[in-house]
Amino acid sequence: MKCKVCGEKAVIKLRQHNLALCEEHFIERFRREVERTLKKYEMFDRGQPVLVAVSGGKDSLSLLHVLKSLDYKVTGLFIDLGIEGMSEKARAKVEELAARLDVELVVVSLKDKYGESLPEIAKRRPQHRICSLCGMIKRYLMNKTAYDLGIKVVATGHNLDDEVSSLLSNTLRWDVSYLAKQSPYLPSVHPKLAARAKPLAFLTEREIAAYAILSEIDFHREACPFSRGAKTLFYKHLLNEIEVRSPGTKLRFYREFQSFRKRYLRDIDTGMPPLRECKICGMPTSLEVCAFCRLFQRDN
Ligand code: AMP
Ligand code: ZN
Ligand code: ZN
Repeated sequence: MKCKVCGEKAVIKLRQHNLALCEEHFIERFRREVERTLKKYEMFDRGQPVLVAVSGGKDSLSLLHVLKSLDYKVTGLFIDLGIEGMSEKARAKVEELAARLDVELVVVSLKDKYGESLPEIAKRRPQHRICSLCGMIKRYLMNKTAYDLGIKVVATGHNLDDEVSSLLSNTLRWDVSYLAKQSPYLPSVHPKLAARAKPLAFLTEREIAAYAILSEIDFHREACPFSRGAKTLFYKHLLNEIEVRSPGTKLRFYREFQSFRKRYLRDIDTGMPPLRECKICGMPTSLEVCAFCRLFQRDN
């Protein structure tokens, strides 16, 4: 297998593009793809500070690495959820890469700052799925930290496989309000809400893993002990089966959905009440007290 660009030995074959590449040309293409997504969706430019949410996994660490190597103004954010056997290990990987890249890193510990870890919060609320609580808490803390730091954009490491599996799941339910929001970039809709960017949304998990390994990024490999919904994994598995038979399906499904969304869904009224400010923390919410603050109210 030879590199299509230079004829040297290839390290990876991208079936969806019918393209084999050597290390140098794979990395070059990866960087170009990230830049293309940033430009196409007008996510942010080099002068603008960006808060990169890093979990310690391959996707977000690769995102931090590629943005820094492309000269973007990045600050890392690690949210320590206090999950035993995971959070400390993940944090160590994040700290290691941030130090190596000389990137400023902010660590927010749920337990230190708000008195309870995620498992402790979840225990008090058996009626809520821990993964939904976790998602809500992370979104809140990403936005709050960006706001406190005066940063207007938060970038996450969501990859094509993540995006396509939630697209499939939302489509199967015809969940129009979720579909309307499913985009690589969501601009801010309130002065206290950061824009949200997913610069790796068009790159597969496999491409990102290759980038991480070739860039010698040591990442946290274990899945969360509460493991993300089994359904997400099932959809990813199904989509991989389809991809084997018909390479390029994932990318096409996501790309074509984006043009559809732009034409028909972007500006629809999803029936959400207008945003106001939380009575307790002052952050945007559609209710009197935001979902995050409600977690810590006594009678809840
Ligand atoms: P997940 O919600 O676990 O699928 O992760 C999606 C993205 O959210 C990751 O690529 C990260 O950018 C971000 N993220 C997840 N967990 C954390 C964390 N503990 N701290 C900071 N960012 C995170
Ligand atoms: Zn080459
Ligand atoms: Zn609040």
